[in-house]
Amino acid sequence: MNNGIHKLLIVGGGSAGWMAAALLSRMLPKLSISLVESPLVGTIGVGEASIPPLTHFNQLLGISEAEFIAATQGSYKLGIEFENWGAEGERYMHAFGSIGKSLGATDFHQLWLRQQAAGDSTDFWRYSPNYQAAKANRFSPNAQLQGSPLAPLVHAYHFDAGLYAQMLRRYSENKGVTRIEGHITQVMQQDGRIASVVLDSGQTLSADFFIDCTGLAALLIGKTLATEFEDWGHFLPCDRAIAVPTQRTEPLQPYTRSIAHEAGWQWRIPLQHRTGNGMVYCSEYWSEDEATARLLANLDAPILAEPRLIKFRTGRRQQQWQQNCLALGLASGFLEPLESTSIHLIHSGLVRFIRLFPTDMDGGACREEYNRQSRAEFEQIRDFIILHYHLNRSRHGHSSAFWQHCATMDIPASLKHKLDLFAQGGRVFRHQDELFSEAAWQQVFLGQGLLPAHYHPIADTPAAADLSQYLKDMGKVVDATVAAMPSHTDFLRSLAR
Ligand SMILES: Cc1cc2nc3c(=O)[nH]c(=O)nc-3n(C[C@H](O)[C@H](O)[C@H](O)COP(=O)(O)OP(=O)(O)OC[C@H]3O[C@@H](n4cnc5c(N)ncnc54)[C@H](O)[C@@H]3O)c2cc1C
Repeated sequence: MNNGIHKLLIVGGGSAGWMAAALLSRMLPKLSISLVESPLVGTIGVGEASIPPLTHFNQLLGISEAEFIAATQGSYKLGIEFENWGAEGERYMHAFGSIGKSLGATDFHQLWLRQQAAGDSTDFWRYSPNYQAAKANRFSPNAQLQGSPLAPLVHAYHFDAGLYAQMLRRYSENKGVTRIEGHITQVMQQDGRIASVVLDSGQTLSADFFIDCTGLAALLIGKTLATEFEDWGHFLPCDRAIAVPTQRTEPLQPYTRSIAHEAGWQWRIPLQHRTGNGMVYCSEYWSEDEATARLLANLDAPILAEPRLIKFRTGRRQQQWQQNCLALGLASGFLEPLESTSIHLIHSGLVRFIRLFPTDMDGGACREEYNRQSRAEFEQIRDFIILHYHLNRSRHGHSSAFWQHCATMDIPASLKHKLDLFAQGGRVFRHQDELFSEAAWQQVFLGQGLLPAHYHPIADTPAAADLSQYLKDMGKVVDATVAAMPSHTDFLRSLAR
């Protein structure tokens, strides 16, 4: 029996606030939940690309895919294509899902490495259904791929995060969440804990537990509880973004594009009603004018609004749950948008909080465990993102001061270990519940030009002719699977019917 938290206040009404309101009201129906958002402080207004687990978040809420896509002007995302990251003019994709199929105990990429060593130059992504479907602008959900020996497509979404927050607001209010509009001017504490917040109207809102979703302001976890921010700017040096929407283009690509430039990278996210674009950059190497000019010169359609500057800092709060306050979203930390992980971190933070929901006011061991797991999750994702920057084009002689800095900067020991394991023998291991799969790591290593010195000797098991035939057959299966799919646009149309 819970004798601790009965009344919960969510502070902030961006993606984090409304995701929290929706999931907590669904999963903990006896809790009294209110959400306060300021009419004076807007939401961050970016965050349009996701990773596959968002499908589970919607499933937990009971929101169907068709409903979600229609409400958010969404489209499907099969991966992220990285252009000019390894070497100028080169591109590769972090395609979701698996690549090829293991043979007995032998990982597929080891078979592919053996084949490369024997002189076959077939591209690794030849065997990725996600990649091939993405480049053919086709999409079909898992069910329609039955009968194929390959694993089905794995998808995420591109979506309008503002529309998603509105959808979740309707959902939460239907489940009994009370929305309060007001700007918090004061936070009251008692014995170190948060007791209440005071609005500019003079109204006081008290609760047993508070969720800080105030974005970069971090009003409760940072400004009130003074939880230290662990700055990761030395690993992830980009600290600015310019965002600008443009008109939709055809065909509607089912993947995100990430294009490296001199001092940062450009995103391109195709939605149904517009394309989201932005330039993430490092202010030590580029001015706002330089970044904006480069972005505007590289758009493929007319702009729909003026470019907007967003400043950020990469890192995390050392305790994301402190006293009777949990921080979610930007208030809890930010890893920069390269692998579209922020909205996922809100989702996983919420699931973790529900699993560790405290049964007394102190939270003790639950709070410690939450903080331990969150740290591990943030650090694992951080390492994956750093890899993209570190293993970069300057190794190939195409460089700028920014990329040279990234290639030579210190990296965490945990990432160095992963790099060494792959460089020596193509080994990749996933630690505990690590978010990114072995296939994801393999694609970034290989895509950015790191070919292991050796393949694993277990890959010598099949006879050479059998292995060649196996790979040829697999390529044919991928082609047939993709050819049977409708175009991405047609599939979206069929969903709307
Ligand atoms: C450049 C960039 C690109 C991004 N791209 C992606 C992406 O592709 N995919 C992804 O998953 N994530 C992305 N993100 C992250 C994503 O945008 C955020 O994680 C997500 O939107 C959550 O934001 P939030 O709700 O924490 O904060 P916000 O959206 O900033 O909301 C803050 C809320 O707090 C309220 N508030 C603040 N102060 C007060 C006060 N004093 N009183 C009352 N209320 C207050 C505000 O009114 C607002 O409602 C990106 C972020 C950036 C910076």
